Amino acid sequence: YRTDYIPLDQIPVWKHPGAASAEPIYKANDELNRKISVFRGDITKLEIDAIANAANKTLLGGGGVDGAIHRGAGPLLKRECSTLGGCETGEAKITGAYGLPAKYVIHTVGPIAHGSVGEGERRALRECYYNCLHTATKNRLRTVAFPCISTGVYGYPPEQAVEVALKTVREYLEEHHMDRVIFCVFLKADEELYRNRLPAYFPQG
Ligand code: ADP
Repeated sequence: YRTDYIPLDQIPVWKHPGAASAEPIYKANDELNRKISVFRGDITKLEIDAIANAANKTLLGGGGVDGAIHRGAGPLLKRECSTLGGCETGEAKITGAYGLPAKYVIHTVGPIAHGSVGEGERRALRECYYNCLHTATKNRLRTVAFPCISTGVYGYPPEQAVEVALKTVREYLEEHHMDRVIFCVFLKADEELYRNRLPAYFPQG
């Protein structure tokens, strides 16, 4: 019996810092602002409809967040993943979450950047976020948490990745019903990046 699950209602909605924040890129929409959270910690603890996994093309497990998800879910996750025929960069595939408190895992494969990003990598990272959200919608899921896809071993610069993540989520929420999107950051530096850049995409009304 585990007690370290974090229920969604314990994760606060992101709060706009007020004045002296980033220049807005999008129109203010308080309804959308209430659907966003930044949570720093282990994504495998979240009790939510779906967590996204920054997987690799084999879908058979790896290091980083992928390793943590497979460890938390247990061997049945790998067994289900092994029936899926892998996953291409930018695609998303859904599985059960087994031993995790989430209901589903949505696996996606981020672009390998190794520190330098072109239009192809940017488009692929956008597809990751979009296809995870679209997969959630197709499965009638309303709450999704994302790790910082590609910014670990895949080497996508975090300060460029955050722009893609926030833009794609903002545009998705404009057009689809979703109750909550959690940016699950692991590093202090990423938390600061997200908090600094959120006001550009989710300005105060
Ligand atoms: P990628 O191969 O896509 O770069 P990584 O797993 O190497 O994926 O890194 C992606 C991000 O996930 C990094 O910011 C890393 O710090 C973060 N991360 C690692 N473990 C966890 C975890 N348990 N929960 C949430 N994020 C994590």
